[in-house]
Amino acid sequence: MQPDTRSVAPAAKPLGPVPAAFEAINGELAIGGQPVSHWVERAGGTPLFLYSRQMIEQRMAQLRAALPHRLQVNYAVKANPFRPILQLLAGLTDGFDIASGGELALVRAAGIDLARVSFAGPGKGDDELSAAILAGVTVNIESEGELHRALAISRKAGQRLRAALRVNPDFTLRGSGMKMGGGAKPFGIDAAQVPALARALIAEGAEFRGLHIFTGSQALDADAVSAMQHAVLALADQLAREIGSPLPTLNMGGGFGIPYFAGDTPLDLPAVGAALKDMFATIPPTLADTSLHIELGRYIVGEAGIYLARVLDRKVSHGQVFLITDGGLHHQLAASGNFGTVVRRNYPIAIASRFTQVPSEVASVVGRLCTPLDRLADNGWLPRAEVGDLVAVFCAGAYGATASPAQFLGHGPAREMLV
Ligand SMILES: *Cc1c(COP(=O)(O)O)cnc(C)c1O
Repeated sequence: MQPDTRSVAPAAKPLGPVPAAFEAINGELAIGGQPVSHWVERAGGTPLFLYSRQMIEQRMAQLRAALPHRLQVNYAVKANPFRPILQLLAGLTDGFDIASGGELALVRAAGIDLARVSFAGPGKGDDELSAAILAGVTVNIESEGELHRALAISRKAGQRLRAALRVNPDFTLRGSGMKMGGGAKPFGIDAAQVPALARALIAEGAEFRGLHIFTGSQALDADAVSAMQHAVLALADQLAREIGSPLPTLNMGGGFGIPYFAGDTPLDLPAVGAALKDMFATIPPTLADTSLHIELGRYIVGEAGIYLARVLDRKVSHGQVFLITDGGLHHQLAASGNFGTVVRRNYPIAIASRFTQVPSEVASVVGRLCTPLDRLADNGWLPRAEVGDLVAVFCAGAYGATASPAQFLGHGPAREMLV
């Protein structure tokens, strides 16, 4: 083996864009009208997720302003099920989409009206189906087998099943980070099988709530979103005619993305809204009285959250600077590049305690786990940070705390606060 003798400073790799809404107070990153150190003290330390109430409210206001009034906006709970966020969104959104019995318990505990909740996801257990049916939640049926299990459970419980069918369409959301439709998929019922199953559902006496067509996530291209929505409406019209019944509801999916990486640009929301208004103006008669929904997770909460960790150590290895923090991939799997990304790229990250300082060195920000995967920023161009400084990872409001392996290495979960 050759010894590694390189000791030159590495070239900087770009960092993702810091969401524009963030400002500084006394040179420090601020959120909720206070510098982050204020909240760290209030919370009792780091690592800490901070979510901005005001930014979530602003994002919902932008959605309401841009989208047709007719369109209902649901929140996809799996993006962030933190109870204060669910309670905030109870007053701002039209419905909640859950993906497990555990999320059903969370929305129940948050006091959310369960008649506004729908439950999608492949592989629902009998216990989960039973809890959902008894609660009056709309079950988005994902297969013929699941339909029969749900019908049997509802008969046994003497409680009418409220169900929509989740469709696996033959198209997908172009440019989306995670494709959930088109071709062979574990999600939904192949479009060709939907009419027969919908008629069976109705014939069995269940309450048919309509269709759910979700095709993908994290799209930044307004044209791609509009093309998907156009295709969803056309497919829903065709299926409604084949079923021979109007659709009480149509969940059109979501997929609105946020900029995570250098070069990403925000979704043109007004363009999406304008295209939808045109589509709704010429909506087919089968959908004239349908309650139309979209379901969004990261778009509502993603940019409103930051993750804070404190620098525990600063070291230089072979010419490269490492800032070792008390956080890591056990809270920020996505920022480490290990959740749904093929090529690791840097999230937006900053030295929060020196937010207004000019960058002066290339440094990697790592966590405290004994794995080289635990990297929050790879060779970012940052102000020089010392032990005790606070690091912020942005776009941490969705798929952070609950989409990371908090038990790994036993450091435990991060604190969370809505401010
Ligand atoms: C995960 C998921 C969402 C939310 O996705 P985002 O990218 O966070 O908006 C919406 N609907 C379904 C069915 C999902 O599985």
